[in-house]
Amino acid sequence: MHFGLSEQQRELQEAARKFARAELPDLARELERDDKPVPDDMLRRYGEMGFLGINLPEQYGGMGLSHLDALLVLEEFAQISVAVAFPVFEALTGPVRTIEQFGSDALKSAILPEVIRGEKIVAVAMSEPGAGTALTDLTTTALVDGEEIVLNGQKRWSSGAGHSHYYITYCRFTEGGKPIEGAKGIGAVLVGKNDNGVSFGKPEELMGFRGIPSADIFLDDVRVPAGNLIVGAGGFGKLMSAFGLERCGNATMGLGVAAAALEDALDYTQEREAFGKPIVDFQAVQMKLAEMAMQVDAARLLIWRAAANSGNGLPTVYESSLAKCFSNEMVRDVTSLGVQVMGGYGYSKEYPMEQRLRDGFAWGIAGGTTDVQKSNITASMIGRRFNQRAK
Ligand SMILES: Cc1cc2nc3c(=O)[nH]c(=O)nc-3n(C[C@H](O)[C@H](O)[C@H](O)COP(=O)(O)OP(=O)(O)OC[C@H]3O[C@@H](n4cnc5c(N)ncnc54)[C@H](O)[C@@H]3O)c2cc1C
Repeated sequence: MHFGLSEQQRELQEAARKFARAELPDLARELERDDKPVPDDMLRRYGEMGFLGINLPEQYGGMGLSHLDALLVLEEFAQISVAVAFPVFEALTGPVRTIEQFGSDALKSAILPEVIRGEKIVAVAMSEPGAGTALTDLTTTALVDGEEIVLNGQKRWSSGAGHSHYYITYCRFTEGGKPIEGAKGIGAVLVGKNDNGVSFGKPEELMGFRGIPSADIFLDDVRVPAGNLIVGAGGFGKLMSAFGLERCGNATMGLGVAAAALEDALDYTQEREAFGKPIVDFQAVQMKLAEMAMQVDAARLLIWRAAANSGNGLPTVYESSLAKCFSNEMVRDVTSLGVQVMGGYGYSKEYPMEQRLRDGFAWGIAGGTTDVQKSNITASMIGRRFNQRAK
């Protein structure tokens, strides 16, 4: 077993680190201050540098590298902030992958090159006011009407809402004028931001995630071409299987935040003095730094294992849920320790530590809560799923 990165992987990681550290820290502060997403010109720069196509197929302009390569790049961006990393997350491990996995050739040829060049962003709209963990309760309907699909409903929490150009919209297909009940009625359709009947609610104010817009999406008789179908009724299992990679992306966002918190804490505790010596000389501080390092390293290894074992396919539910869940809890612990070792300055907006705590917390809710991941982990171990609905 070999835990090191290849020469090529180290070079890729270094290229992403150099770019992220040279070009993104000031932007990250601006996005946090103004609550604005990555501007168009910077998104194009990401595209020109190849960062939005690392593990996407070469035929669409991607680099065709491995998922592990993509995660190495993503971590470097996430170390700066989740807002600057978000477009990379969406392109390499998030919604774009759903199109790449399940979309028609026409849809892939239309969307993937634009995303890889940094011209367009794709978001995912699954959750609804009454359907989060219980996603199979979703009520947004999709009616196939000849060469068109008509959508009606309301979406909530979609990251990028109002800003992203496309939305992978989870919906319930109808048959004979009636919604098909349960998971078997669910599929996904691509909806454009400017399609007739699409509107957005007021911007959400979240605890963190500034620079990643969120708002309700209203779909009122939205007609899209039938070619926008990504997965029809009966494809819910397929959609969920694609989540293996999304989980690794989610876990890597938390990993980046935590790794940066550790780096800041190491710098700070060697500079800050109390009782005439650097605070790192106090054993209580040393213990905290060691605990942070143990957790960050363990998360990284779980994520890398899930990605490395996936080969050209998707990470397994077991390994990706384990990595996500561990990372989700790890980043909350590590950033919390980071705030503590920095004392008053950890709690001040003068330093990014408090932002890391707020941004880091989200990942254990987004993409499936830690509770649900744990249920998935146990289900994988015993080889059967648990019926959450049984009384
Ligand atoms: C920052 C952020 C970004 C997000 N981005 C997106 C996005 O881009 N697109 C999108 O569609 N959605 C997005 N979401 C929504 C996210 O997927 C949901 O918030 C999440 O799935 C939980 O759903 P809920 O909020 O309705 O909570 P609920 O489902 O109401 O859960 C509340 C609590 O009950 C627990 N619970 C519920 N059911 C069970 C169960 N069966 N077993 C054990 N515990 C249970 C949960 O773990 C949780 O602690 C985002 C959320 C956040 C916070």
